[in-house]
Amino acid sequence: MKTEEGKFVPPILYYHRVDPDLSPHAGVTPDQFRSQLSILKQAGFQGTTLDFAMKNGHTDPVTGKKIVAITFDDGYQDNYRYAMPILQEFGFLATIFCLSGKIGGISDWTEDPIWKGHPLLDAPQMRELSSLGLEIGSHTRTHVDLSRLSSTDARDEIVHSKSDLEELLGVPVRSFCYPFGAYREETPTLVRSAGYSWGRSVTRRSLAPVVSSMLLPCRPVSGRMFLPRFLSWTLLTRITG
Ligand SMILES: [Zn+2]
Repeated sequence: MKTEEGKFVPPILYYHRVDPDLSPHAGVTPDQFRSQLSILKQAGFQGTTLDFAMKNGHTDPVTGKKIVAITFDDGYQDNYRYAMPILQEFGFLATIFCLSGKIGGISDWTEDPIWKGHPLLDAPQMRELSSLGLEIGSHTRTHVDLSRLSSTDARDEIVHSKSDLEELLGVPVRSFCYPFGAYREETPTLVRSAGYSWGRSVTRRSLAPVVSSMLLPCRPVSGRMFLPRFLSWTLLTRITG
């Protein structure tokens, strides 16, 4: 699979929370996460950020390993507490898509008890993650449904979340992810015009040979994806790329 610009699209994993005590719909336990990263490592994969993955394609130029991008949506504090140390055990990196208007806040964009009321990363945690090499991407300012906003309001969320995060972290923010996976026809163009290099959708990888770099497909992972299925995904991906 390639982008319209001819860039190879590596496999992209898509997580939310990592916590010992959660609904399997919302994420994985630290033990599950560690087992999944172990499978990836044993299969010869290097877990990395979306930006690094898209720039380098098939293989990590330093380690020679196959690349898999690891991404997290929403920027939950458990990513810092549980996911980051496990990523470090394996020498892996990841991208975390954060909400620039909810830094240090809680998930309050839904009434669903599985998702509502969880603490989000604060500014020092985001700076530390960034300094460790993790990528902080934008997930808009307030987790809005971009398919329901006027063009002006959508542009505001897309443009200003980028500048807010760049101001906070002092590095360019190149990756974007659509809240609820929602967008309409003009939205990917707004994302590109705002200066992002990559947009991650929630669409699963298909057999389509070409995708937009603003709508990159991914493989969602939750606690409902048991280890044998993760293993078969990994082995199949190693073969098919
Ligand atoms: Zn989200």
